[in-house]
Amino acid sequence: MQPVLKSKQPKVGTTIFTVMSKMAHDYGAINLSQGYPNFDCDEKLKELVCYYTKKGYNQYPPMAGVMAFRESLAEKVSRHYQVDYHPETEVTITSGATESIYAAITAVVCSGDEVIIFEPAYDCYAPTVELNGGKPVFITLEPPTYQIDWGKVKNAINPKTKLIIINTPHNPTGTVLSPSDLESLAQIVKDKAIFLLSDEVYEHIIFDGKPHQSLMLHPTLKERTFVTGSFGKTFHVTGWKIGYCLAPKQLTEEFRKVHQWLTFTTITPVQYALAEYLKAPENYIHIPEFYQKKRNIFNEALKASRFEFTPSSGSFFQNVNYAKITDEFDQDLSKRWTKEIGVASIPVSVFYHQQNDFKVLRFCFAKDEETLKIAAEKLCKI
Ligand code: PMP
Ligand code: GLN
Repeated sequence: MQPVLKSKQPKVGTTIFTVMSKMAHDYGAINLSQGYPNFDCDEKLKELVCYYTKKGYNQYPPMAGVMAFRESLAEKVSRHYQVDYHPETEVTITSGATESIYAAITAVVCSGDEVIIFEPAYDCYAPTVELNGGKPVFITLEPPTYQIDWGKVKNAINPKTKLIIINTPHNPTGTVLSPSDLESLAQIVKDKAIFLLSDEVYEHIIFDGKPHQSLMLHPTLKERTFVTGSFGKTFHVTGWKIGYCLAPKQLTEEFRKVHQWLTFTTITPVQYALAEYLKAPENYIHIPEFYQKKRNIFNEALKASRFEFTPSSGSFFQNVNYAKITDEFDQDLSKRWTKEIGVASIPVSVFYHQQNDFKVLRFCFAKDEETLKIAAEKLCKI
């Protein structure tokens, strides 16, 4: 008898990122859909990876990550945020933030637990909760501000609530949390057995002089939070899939139990290279300015368009509202414009479980100036 596989994720198809990037390729469109830079990383970083590869650092590193790397990361976090994590017991290197998110959710969520997710939400959160038998409880954020209504959060909490997932700077909306958001969250969770997962992969891509509000900055939040970051975003190497999780000792212990079965560890020479590269703040302190310039070039050029938009506060995404142009469903429109206008985008409705269509498209501005200007020129002709 041929066994029939009953899908654990019957509603899940190919991610929108793959779909739109393929479409951009097939139609020769400028790809502002999937979020990745079209420029290369620093030569110094590549040389460091070559150096450690040639030197023979090519076998399994320790399960939690190369110690020199964990130390270097803990020092960088301490320098940048004045917050301490112990490299031995509170820092874990992972194969991208995606792995951290999977491991943190798996470590915490048991069958029947509820997890609060703000929508629009990055695509892997809800499926990972469901694969662990948990129930996503969605709270909708509405354009144009996408502010969190903390009263709604309070009302959504019940004894089954186990985890709240935060993402700042936020993908896809480009919004960021403020110190008062952190305080509101702390007031809500302080007397409850609720954990937090803070996806901070865009920590260095934040604009207009706003400091990044990492959840680690608030002591009530830090003691219950898994903070995840990605070197892919920070150093323009999304294909390297290397990230980390910072969490208090007891949380890290459970996190590592999952991590060791998931990937066990992460590519050795890259860990040694990044350990060295992270030591120099000049390798990352310029990043907000670098991306702000790109945001400004793109937005300046879009001023002549019929789109309405609020400048992104963080991440490498700019959302635009197209309601003045057409009332087409965003998922149809992004495909049509990829073919007809030659610019690929991501329809924001895909980040809502009920596909809420607020007539918003997301453009990635992690591109060279020339590409941004040509794309904007095409979009202005609409
Ligand atoms: N979270 C968010 C919000 C992201 O945009 C991304 C990037 N795709 C990830 C997590 C995953 O990061 P990584 O590529 O390091 O797995
Ligand atoms: N984070 C990227 C984005 O939001 C894509 C990541 C992926 O392709 N899974 O576009």
